[in-house]
Amino acid sequence: MATNNLHKLEEIRQILNDEYKVLSLADIGFYDDIEETGTTLKENAGIKSWTIFNKYHKNCFSDDTGLLVEALNGAPGVYSARYSGENATFDKNVTKLLKDLEGIENRRAAFSTVVSLIIDKKEYFFEGRIDGIITKERHGKKGFGYDPVFLPDGYNETFAEMSAELKNQISHRGIAMLKLTNFLRDNAF
Ligand code: IMP
Repeated sequence: MATNNLHKLEEIRQILNDEYKVLSLADIGFYDDIEETGTTLKENAGIKSWTIFNKYHKNCFSDDTGLLVEALNGAPGVYSARYSGENATFDKNVTKLLKDLEGIENRRAAFSTVVSLIIDKKEYFFEGRIDGIITKERHGKKGFGYDPVFLPDGYNETFAEMSAELKNQISHRGIAMLKLTNFLRDNAF
């Protein structure tokens, strides 16, 4: 998996169970940052997986995720990782989001993920999305990123409060990865 995000890697490994063995970038000796210069999730997902495929000629995949907030016209979207600026951290990003939504009643938001999978030089895409609202305060310590302030529709706990199993079952990334595993099974990879 073409990511340096250990939280994502951990999630993907849980989602795929023992069915597939997923190597990390560290496992193959790649420690550089891959610059995400695209303007869409699809482009950025592709940039990450093609960088690794072109260098190592190994089949690989990557995901790119954005948080789309209705009242912010879809921001931070593709720029979700750098929302609070150059030295952004998960915590600073959440703080900025809560500040930008202060006094705003419409808290609707969605996580959207695009996975780019490259097998034998061909690229395939899988998408997942989950709708919900941005809470007014942080709740929960699990997960990562914007999890403490994302309350998925139909649930009464944020992604950071629910078990990893439940998050993986219903999340943007979980949905995209289910499509990817079905594709691998159907095509006997
Ligand atoms: P990227 O896909 O690594 O570029 O992630 C974009 C931003 O969204 C980062 O700030 C991540 O922390 C955040 N993010 C990605 N996936 C999740 C998630 O499942 N929950 C909460 N935040 C996430």
